[in-house]
Amino acid sequence: MTDRARSATRSGGDPRQAETHCPYCALQCGMVLRETGDRVEVLPRQFPTNRGGLCQKGWTAAELLDHRDRLTTPLVRDPATGELRPATWAAALDRIAAGIRAVQAGHGRDAVAVFGGGGLTNEKAYALGKFARVALRTRHIDYNGRWCMSSAAAAGIRAFGVDRGLPFPLADLGRAETLLLVGANPAETMPPLMRHLADQRDRGGRLIVVDPRVTATARQADLHLQPLPGTDLAVANALLHIALTEGLIDKDYVAARTTGFDEVRRTVAGYWPAEVERLSGVPVADLEATARALGTAGSAIILTARGAEQHAKGVDTVSAFVNLALALGLPGRPGSGYGCLTGQGNGQGGREHGQKADQLPGYRKIDDPAAREHVAGVWGVDPEDLPGPGVPAYQLLDSLGTPGGPRAMLVFGSNPVVSAPRAARIESRLRGLDLLVVADFLLSETAALADVVLPVAQWAEEDGTMTNLEGRVLRRRALREPPPGVRSDLAVLAELADRLDAPASFPTDPAEVFTELRRASAGGVADYAGVSWERIEADEGVFWPCPDPAGPDTPRLFADSFATPDGRARFQPVTHRPAAEPVCADYPLHFTTGRVLAQYQSGTQTRRVAALRRAAPGGFVELHPDLADRLGVTEGDEVRVASRRGELRAPARLTPTIRPDTVFAPFHWGGAARANSVTNDATDPVSGMPEFKICAVRVEKA
Ligand code: SF4
Repeated sequence: MTDRARSATRSGGDPRQAETHCPYCALQCGMVLRETGDRVEVLPRQFPTNRGGLCQKGWTAAELLDHRDRLTTPLVRDPATGELRPATWAAALDRIAAGIRAVQAGHGRDAVAVFGGGGLTNEKAYALGKFARVALRTRHIDYNGRWCMSSAAAAGIRAFGVDRGLPFPLADLGRAETLLLVGANPAETMPPLMRHLADQRDRGGRLIVVDPRVTATARQADLHLQPLPGTDLAVANALLHIALTEGLIDKDYVAARTTGFDEVRRTVAGYWPAEVERLSGVPVADLEATARALGTAGSAIILTARGAEQHAKGVDTVSAFVNLALALGLPGRPGSGYGCLTGQGNGQGGREHGQKADQLPGYRKIDDPAAREHVAGVWGVDPEDLPGPGVPAYQLLDSLGTPGGPRAMLVFGSNPVVSAPRAARIESRLRGLDLLVVADFLLSETAALADVVLPVAQWAEEDGTMTNLEGRVLRRRALREPPPGVRSDLAVLAELADRLDAPASFPTDPAEVFTELRRASAGGVADYAGVSWERIEADEGVFWPCPDPAGPDTPRLFADSFATPDGRARFQPVTHRPAAEPVCADYPLHFTTGRVLAQYQSGTQTRRVAALRRAAPGGFVELHPDLADRLGVTEGDEVRVASRRGELRAPARLTPTIRPDTVFAPFHWGGAARANSVTNDATDPVSGMPEFKICAVRVEKA
């Protein structure tokens, strides 16, 4: 059955309409796509996450379907001229297969790497992992989710034995008496989520936001803590210190459901609020008010996001907030808990089915003999033939073309030239490859460097599943077939696997791939065995784990036990340490990065949408007016932000909402305004997540 025919059967039989979800962020807002004349209309639809709302990105998503920049033919670089030239599919795929064979013959199997994305469907993420391990037999696969959620994932596994961003449905936010948001700005990144926060406010709840900037979300808070970037961990430890001294700990919960509290108690004893005020700039009174609001509430939720995670100590920072939640007895209690707001569209599902360097489907570990045996059985290969773990994304990208590093790479759904830290260095690594292949539907900055570019289908042209920030598996439905000349990523992998004589089959029908994924994930942490497309449709999504087609799914985790060997959550003693790159006389200011409402990730898509371009036409640098005054900079002046790694140039935007010792730039643009020309490539030792949120810079009028 074609994707369009299958979708039509689920849209009241009308082939001009499809009930699906937004292609962008992890909220995965429900929407209806309708073909009217020669255009595709987007209509919001009621779904538990967005409750009928969409942001501007969702409303305008269909504009890219027929965009003039759409790639509809493969491109192959002409060795004589160095230009990308149109080619047939057969020629492009032959070129790739020959390149892979040559590189592996000369340098070994690990000389070819694969780089995926957190926007790929579950089926594609699964197939990509299988392709790397079975067709290429390389250990080198990782993905851009490493930039986004890996520190909270690692902290969640450390404490709870499982990583599901929200271990409860989003609607629980509305019922929390106190909600603490750390380094999250959903008013700009996920506006429909604010409906749940409005519910919470209407019920008399308190919202507390921790963010170095007075963001659109912080403006709506009852209390805003504005710490110096990189000091969140100390703030969390001070909150736990206060909770201890004021008798707010849930002792029964700690005794019955956790291990390791005594060591954490000893660790946070040294985090005197007055000292943390000196370190972070957060007044003692605000720390006390926050601890009391959390510790005395009948229900409370603590949520972290990129602001807490994107540090060289991101895992420990998240762990500090998890410790606080555990000490207050929140996880597993109705209306309470700890969660992480995942960012990318399939940020959750994309990190469960084998795109990560150390992972097999079902969130299994690739170095676990039982996991290898199970997955190899599903794939019909010998477990001995599966490669071992690779390395995290930045380490992988930084090794490209270097002695012993991969010499070829296949990129699906990612644009590291804009999104990687220390991007100029990564760009030069990509340029040094023998073979770079990019599958995309637009010519991203990374695709522009490729030897072969493959034009692939967009979200409205394919069926599949996504797993949203709640761990809810959703159906993506095709509205129409891809334009002539365009193929699906699954078809690309199947064609290449065939050319490489892969010892396993690579189905091109997403329903068939999902059936295989279910078997591969069965018995794993992220168990999808009981999830069928029909069940997703009937139930507005299915929450994993769902091992049994006839059994229940799991909207809420941890009610009775945690996914650890003894069923108890594990406290982690963690201590504050400075940013990897402290400020100094030459680089006296802190630099931090983030998003704006009208753009998404590296901007490959949203920068091409007219309404979004009008709303957010280019990069900028946010400075406090006092700092601007000292630097002789006025609104709109072009400024140069320089770090030890590179510089960006963009117009100054003066605002009192940022600290005078910190400057901010959004990361959606390439070229001169590329924020990642400046960022630090220090990474967290556990998660491999880069320190996007803080480095040392100097700023001057350009
Ligand atoms: S909030 Fe996210 S999922 Fe919803 S419309 Fe906007 S970008 Fe799409």
